[in-house]
Amino acid sequence: MNPFLYNQPRDLEGALATLSVQGARPIAGGTNLLDLMKEGVMAPARLVDINTIGLDRIEAAPGGGLLLGALARNADTAYHPLVRERYPLLGAAILAGASPQLRNMATNGGNLMQRTRCVYFYDVGVPCNKREPGTGCPAKEGVNRQLAILGASEACIATHPSDMCVALRALDATVHVRSQAGGERAIPFADFQRLPGDRPDLDNTLAAGELITHITLPEAGRFAGHSAYIKVRDRLSYAFALVSVAAALDLDADGRIREARIALGGVAHKPWRVPGAEAALAGRPPATAAFMTAADAILDGARGHGQNDFKVSLARNAIIHALAIAARGTVQAQGGRQ
Ligand SMILES: Cc1cc2nc3c(=O)[nH]c(=O)nc-3n(C[C@H](O)[C@H](O)[C@H](O)COP(=O)(O)OP(=O)(O)OC[C@H]3O[C@@H](n4cnc5c(N)ncnc54)[C@H](O)[C@@H]3O)c2cc1C
Repeated sequence: MNPFLYNQPRDLEGALATLSVQGARPIAGGTNLLDLMKEGVMAPARLVDINTIGLDRIEAAPGGGLLLGALARNADTAYHPLVRERYPLLGAAILAGASPQLRNMATNGGNLMQRTRCVYFYDVGVPCNKREPGTGCPAKEGVNRQLAILGASEACIATHPSDMCVALRALDATVHVRSQAGGERAIPFADFQRLPGDRPDLDNTLAAGELITHITLPEAGRFAGHSAYIKVRDRLSYAFALVSVAAALDLDADGRIREARIALGGVAHKPWRVPGAEAALAGRPPATAAFMTAADAILDGARGHGQNDFKVSLARNAIIHALAIAARGTVQAQGGRQ
């Protein structure tokens, strides 16, 4: 067992002070971090329990947007009336993930920071450039069914496993962070997670000691009536995406596409979005021909590594399908809160 220190600060200032100590790491719901510690993948010297510092608000933001506290639970977020009414895409993405029990425990900040599910990353008995830089990437010729077809590097073909992040990317969210040394910073979602390059050990652009305080979403009412999140996976529940698609359309009075948003999950080290492919849909009717063109543009350069070759055509079909569902109209999640 690895011994570690445990702190429970009373407020944000206390948490930031404790997190400025080298080797300190926040723990929120613990649904990912504790697993990684038990497997020996992560061994923080100090856990800073942030469950007591607030940051759990979900509220309307100026200009018609939304603020999601980093400590708000995934379930509270998905079932919040403002999310259901204005951001059904986000609610659908969250509810496609994990299980009711996990979503009741997992937090928004933790969801963004969860780590890859690549089997080599989890197995401390084998090399992995993400876990131990410079040791190699057996996934490239190995078990890679779940892994990247876009944006991968020689060093790493891991994918980011979050569903919530795919919707946040499509909706142009901003991640707000704070540290004792650096103060406050707002990071556009596109720049928050990163591609692996030659530093696959870095999942995102968070600096040491920085804590996510909240996430904001700009006003997005124009997409509420035409959005869809689809997730293709090996089992219906408790499985991470092979491919997922967050699609949203703003249609004009003639039914043509005014604006489109398309983000992919399960295909890269971060949610994948190609603004040029979205822009090319503007002015076109929401029909299969246009969706096929968009899918081809989004998947330009996609390639598998053996076991995951199938994901290129799977992603293409999933994009076309998600856009078709979005065009027909948003289907709200049925049933009450679990
Ligand atoms: C069986 C299982 C199935 C799952 N299936 C899915 C799925 O299908 N889709 C999906 O999206 N997810 C899935 N998950 C992952 C789940 O969503 C994450 O474990 C959860 O969102 C992490 O949130 P948490 O609060 O528990 O984070 P923790 O485990 O507490 O922390 C995770 C990481 O985030 C860091 N962290 C936490 N809060 C902050 C903050 N405010 N600022 C900076 N860093 C922070 C921690 O230091 C740690 O490194 C699954 C998990 C399990 C165990």
